[in-house]
Amino acid sequence: MSKVRVRFAPSPTGHVHVGNARTALFNWLFARHENGAFVLRIEDTDVERSEKQFEDQLLEDLRWFGLDWHEGPDVGGPHGPYRQSERKNLYAQFAKELIGSARAYYCFCAPEQLESEREEALKAGRQPKYSGRCRNLAAEDAARRVNGGEAAAVRLKIEPGEFRWHDLVHGEVVFSSEVIGDPILVRSDGHPAYNYAVVIDDRLMEISHVIRGDDHISNTPRQLALYRALGWEPPIFAHLSTILGPDRSRLSKRHGATSLQNFREEGVLPEALRNYLALLGWSPADGKTEIFEGKVLVEQFSLTHVTKSPAVFDPEKLAWMNRHYMKAAPPERLAQLAAPFLVKAGYLSEPHRQATLAWLERVVDAVLKNLDRLDQLPAAARLVFDYEAASTISGGETRHVAEDEAARQVLTSFIPKILAEQALTFERFREIAKEVQKETGKKGKDLFHPIRVAITGAVSGPELEKLIPIFEEGARLKLARPVKSTAERLREFAEAAKLG
Ligand code: GLU
Repeated sequence: MSKVRVRFAPSPTGHVHVGNARTALFNWLFARHENGAFVLRIEDTDVERSEKQFEDQLLEDLRWFGLDWHEGPDVGGPHGPYRQSERKNLYAQFAKELIGSARAYYCFCAPEQLESEREEALKAGRQPKYSGRCRNLAAEDAARRVNGGEAAAVRLKIEPGEFRWHDLVHGEVVFSSEVIGDPILVRSDGHPAYNYAVVIDDRLMEISHVIRGDDHISNTPRQLALYRALGWEPPIFAHLSTILGPDRSRLSKRHGATSLQNFREEGVLPEALRNYLALLGWSPADGKTEIFEGKVLVEQFSLTHVTKSPAVFDPEKLAWMNRHYMKAAPPERLAQLAAPFLVKAGYLSEPHRQATLAWLERVVDAVLKNLDRLDQLPAAARLVFDYEAASTISGGETRHVAEDEAARQVLTSFIPKILAEQALTFERFREIAKEVQKETGKKGKDLFHPIRVAITGAVSGPELEKLIPIFEEGARLKLARPVKSTAERLREFAEAAKLG
């Protein structure tokens, strides 16, 4: 394994949205490509908003997405623990060290006071910045007050100068110390602040590259100040661009599906989402390939082709990619993934027998070309599960078949022949259609249109060659929603249309 070590450090305060999923993916791809380590760290220092249930969901969603990690809260590792809430003693230890070396100090300012100063600055059009009021308190006095039980935060002293780094995405970035107030490291309630815990952890976990969203760029100088105060070499930074919705505003819930869980529930395949999100900000060396199957993405990924301009999330493109991956997926896998959607629609019940899954492969195959995502399957497969002759003969699009004389003639000849069959196959179906053609003189559309409508209840749909075996086999399976055989459908139709 190389020295490359990266981490994904989500806060368990909600679902994994697209931006974070892309950050996780880029870290994972980079680690894989460099034969390095990928660490999962849970940043749960915000006790009010962090929930174990979100952490569990997060791990599950990342696994569904196809990512795995060498070290993390569930798998452990040599740099644990991997939850910040379990690392408090480490944060306390370094805070003490920083206070001892006078690089940090106790701050007794009341939150209300800080808030009103902040508001005043904003009102005056100034960037809010801590005044530094407690910076020059005598260290002994401050220590005495803390020992006496007074609540105090710990702040880092920002020394005059500038903070500069070479960002792998943004190039040279410089901040002057003037715009940075002394940041809080540990709050008065003892909880570490993000900018503090992240530095201690990245260092102790030997992180070589910090790849994260560019909403953290303004945090980076504060973190660099801390590396400097502790005498540590900072990692290399790469800040990924913002993701925008198709209307070029920041991607949010109103743009539709935005979390891993949403995409999973919509029936987007994880490999399609990985491929799509990889292209949000990254482009391959040839600048044009779009489909990267299997290991190709890992082989080609590099941080040198990551752009800093915002990436636009395009649901149409994701749908296109998902169609590609659904077609490329092995039919057994697709059937497995499709089954829950039919259970949800009430068509199937669990557990699934092998025979049901094998049958489902045919169903999915029959309607696949009409699907962008698997959640559209129940609607596309309605003609398999929901046939009602009564609605066929009353439906605006299909009614003519029951009324039109020529169509009735075809069906009057066709239906009894089908009903006389013991076990209908598509071959027999075709032979019978030929006999009907001879008998009635109808051919092509005049022959097959009435037949299709009478059997499926719809004017268009998958090839009858695919549907007939689906109806026959489906009927034998006795599913939660019984599938009607071709004969059952036609018997119903003949009765409803009063044929013969
Ligand atoms: N917990 C932070 C977040 O979710 C991590 C930021 C970082 O990667 O440093 O945004």
